[in-house]
Amino acid sequence: MDEIDLEELAASLTLREENQAIKSYQNTVAVACPACDEQFDDLVVCKENPTSLNLSKQLDLCVGSADGKGVIFTHKK
Ligand SMILES: [Zn+2]
Repeated sequence: MDEIDLEELAASLTLREENQAIKSYQNTVAVACPACDEQFDDLVVCKENPTSLNLSKQLDLCVGSADGKGVIFTHKK
């Protein structure tokens, strides 16, 4: 499995939301998830440690870390 290159990933994605706790990007260009190789929907970067996520939908999640931050890849069911 490759290391997560957050800068490279973020450069391909569309920034959708940023607040104190998280930064979330939408995968508009069908980038493959580094964890499972399936296309993911959103990338969430956790800026605070720890951070809570309030998920409005039921999602499959893949998680990793990059530059000391937690990163979450969401997959819609
Ligand atoms: Zn995944």
